[in-house]
Amino acid sequence: MLNTENMELLFKIIKGEAINKEDALTIYSLDKSSLLYFMYLSTNIVFNQLEGIISFSKNIFIPLTNLCRNNCLYCGFRRSPNDNSSYILEKDKVIEIVKKGLKYNCKEVLFTFGEKPETKYDKIRKLLKKWGYSSIIEYLRDLCEEVGKIGLFPHSNPGILEKEELELLKDVNASIGLMLENISHRLCDKGGPHEFSPGKVPKLRINTMELAGKLKIPFTTGILVGIGETVEERIDSLLIIKKLHEKYGHIQEIIIQNFVPQENTPMGSHPAPDFLTVLKTIVIARLIFRENINLQAPPNLNLKNLSDLLLSGINDWGGISPVTHDFINPEMSWPKISELSRITENFYFKLKERLPIYPSFINDKFLPKFLKEKILSVVDEEGYLKE
Ligand code: SF4
Repeated sequence: MLNTENMELLFKIIKGEAINKEDALTIYSLDKSSLLYFMYLSTNIVFNQLEGIISFSKNIFIPLTNLCRNNCLYCGFRRSPNDNSSYILEKDKVIEIVKKGLKYNCKEVLFTFGEKPETKYDKIRKLLKKWGYSSIIEYLRDLCEEVGKIGLFPHSNPGILEKEELELLKDVNASIGLMLENISHRLCDKGGPHEFSPGKVPKLRINTMELAGKLKIPFTTGILVGIGETVEERIDSLLIIKKLHEKYGHIQEIIIQNFVPQENTPMGSHPAPDFLTVLKTIVIARLIFRENINLQAPPNLNLKNLSDLLLSGINDWGGISPVTHDFINPEMSWPKISELSRITENFYFKLKERLPIYPSFINDKFLPKFLKEKILSVVDEEGYLKE
């Protein structure tokens, strides 16, 4: 049963107000039965203000390289150049994978990979130079152009970016992404998960997000739940994203990603967050942003709890690939789209396929004219993929 303070909070939300940090802390303190009231309110926002639409994007995941200048203690993907399993994909190989995805009617090409490896490793710098590029971002730009010529839409996730790099990528990407992960600098301190990751310094990540806002780039970000952050740091991370979004209006999606320990990493025995924590974080994110954000939680990281995810306030299942697996969490396979469709429709939501850019960003403010026209040629009047 809710106490008076919780009832007051409930009515504040019903009246249409966004919650603040104190309210979020109150929600974190609830047990599952009390949380249900707030899950109901966050789901209600999806039904009433977001028309009950749950979207997803059918993508091809291209992990361009597993070489990375960072060394996050939870990462099972990264390799250094001396590892036999390190690689950087050549252009022909990338195009071959993309063409495979064409057969499955994928529309998004997701480039996610290690951050700026050439700034740490001579070998990579020389290889890129041999291929005619001065950086991995230049190489990425070229690949995005090629993908565009094939008729698909890139979404790049290459780590922190400078203004010139964002400018280089803007007109060949439908959207760009960078997980904030967490605002806490504490996580970069000695013994923290980001001690050896210069690219994970929060102010640098916020700088990239802010530059993207100035350049009017549709931007995806999110937080990583359970890597050693406190509840307050998690809320502060959501609130800083909100501040940026209020200033620039460019955050198209927030991902609430739960940490999953990977074997053979320094954090392999670090406990994963319990699902109630994940649920509360999604509810809180929805109630902080209300209808002003698209909210996603990766279904492959929560396969046993898809119905609960749906009833916590998400309105997107994220990128689902029928061709490639999740290279960052390789043991976590994507659910089948038919399965997502069944669950979504069981709860009277409507499942719609989107591009890597959300419908409300398909306009002159966020897209160069030629890219907007190309996108408009494949979407319906609501901005989702034509049937
Ligand atoms: S998590 Fe990303 S940034 Fe960190 S080491 Fe792995 S690839 Fe690099």
